[in-house]
Amino acid sequence: MDPISEATQPIEPANVATVALDSPAAGPKSTTSLKRRHSPLASAEYQIATLNNLDLSQTPHQGDFAETLSAHDWQQLKPAKLEIFQINVGKLCNMTCRHCHVDAGPDRREIMDRDTIDACLRALDQTEVHTVDITGGAPELNPHFRYLVEQCVLRGKHVIDRCNLTVLLLPGMQDLPEWFAAHGVELVCSLPHYRRRNTDAQRGDGTFEKSIEVLQRLNTVGYGQGDPRRRLTLMSNPVGAFLSSNQAKLEQEWKAGLQKNFGIRFDRLITLNNMPISRYLEWLEQSGNLQSYMELLVNAFNPATVSGLMCRNTLSISWDGRLFDCDFNQMLELEVQLPQGEYPHIRDFDPKIMAQREIVTGRHCFGCTAGTGSSCGGAIA
Ligand code: SF4
Ligand code: SF4
Repeated sequence: MDPISEATQPIEPANVATVALDSPAAGPKSTTSLKRRHSPLASAEYQIATLNNLDLSQTPHQGDFAETLSAHDWQQLKPAKLEIFQINVGKLCNMTCRHCHVDAGPDRREIMDRDTIDACLRALDQTEVHTVDITGGAPELNPHFRYLVEQCVLRGKHVIDRCNLTVLLLPGMQDLPEWFAAHGVELVCSLPHYRRRNTDAQRGDGTFEKSIEVLQRLNTVGYGQGDPRRRLTLMSNPVGAFLSSNQAKLEQEWKAGLQKNFGIRFDRLITLNNMPISRYLEWLEQSGNLQSYMELLVNAFNPATVSGLMCRNTLSISWDGRLFDCDFNQMLELEVQLPQGEYPHIRDFDPKIMAQREIVTGRHCFGCTAGTGSSCGGAIA
């Protein structure tokens, strides 16, 4: 079996959270997953080939990321001190946003099991990692999600939940705002824009209204009021084929807009570039924007972003326990490379060996270094 199909074997339905994904609260279906449609782009190899086959000869260093780094005195992207575990607990999601780099959706059944979660915790105990960043899909739909959060909190870790907001309206999820507040979880919530039209265009009709309802709820339990134990971060990415705007300026605009129109407060806004992979890659192709977007990313390479790239201080763990330099490499099936040439698993985690890893890069990496840069923490430079 090839590595791609092996990585997407379905789990037993009994292991999936028992929420009604077809309930009216489950959110819009703006598209369906590439996998469900049997799109060639469901294959990571096909995505990489699509990017590599573009003619970028008119851009600096012909659009070669490694050569671009070299030209800026980065012979290679080296790991820094490991500070963050980013655990992707599965591809199941109540939504199917058009720009999703995970190709997540209600039809995806890849979910991290309890044994793998325990292996993550054992690995965590061998490190000085201070933050556990939980992502998906919709991480809350993993039946072991609360266990994972509780165990990380018990270990004194800062826990981030990457939340799509609408999931908190599903049956069985509605107590989560209070639960998050009690556990001091930082919520990083996707909201492409503070205006309905832009948000619904990317995430599907009705998403904006549901997101506003949940944000108001989060405010009532103490999120977004400056309390470090109830930190509410909003995350925005462009609705189109352009780079993120100035993060600080957008934050001011969003704070004013959400306060004035809906009485909503939040602590900070982070902006991310859209990565040219998965469903966003499909949209770029279909809309005729792929060539110009890649040229934009390459031409906007900013050497000041390189030292702050998240792959340097983060380890990304997939639902089945494989290890990656970041969530994007994870979706492209580009596993961590060790000098010995093995592909490690979280079960066999050894911090000394992991420090020797070589970060795997490709053309998609220009998404992280363009303009002010882009990482899970927002702009870099
Ligand atoms: S972008 Fe987030 S909310 Fe949307 S489908 Fe992907 S994982 Fe789900
Ligand atoms: S996609 Fe970004 S974070 Fe991942 S390896 Fe490339 S530069 Fe690093």
